[in-house]
Amino acid sequence: MPERTAPLPLRAVRIAAKCPICQKTGTEEFRPFCSKRCVNVDLGRWLKEGYRVPTDEAPEEGGGEGGEPGPPRQTG
Ligand SMILES: [Zn+2]
Repeated sequence: MPERTAPLPLRAVRIAAKCPICQKTGTEEFRPFCSKRCVNVDLGRWLKEGYRVPTDEAPEEGGGEGGEPGPPRQTG
């Protein structure tokens, strides 16, 4: 017996905006965020993205070579 799933009425589908930061249900005041904190977090991210300009600078690489401590020598 095939299970019937009635489609949700459009009225029931509310725009549930979730906080893109913490995935909580956003509030009307800070939507789609849930709180001022998340608003600032998103804003900070956005600004960072904006500040990041393409440069020819090579990516920072922490090259650690020859720093491996050898096995304990035992002289005897
Ligand atoms: Zn949030």
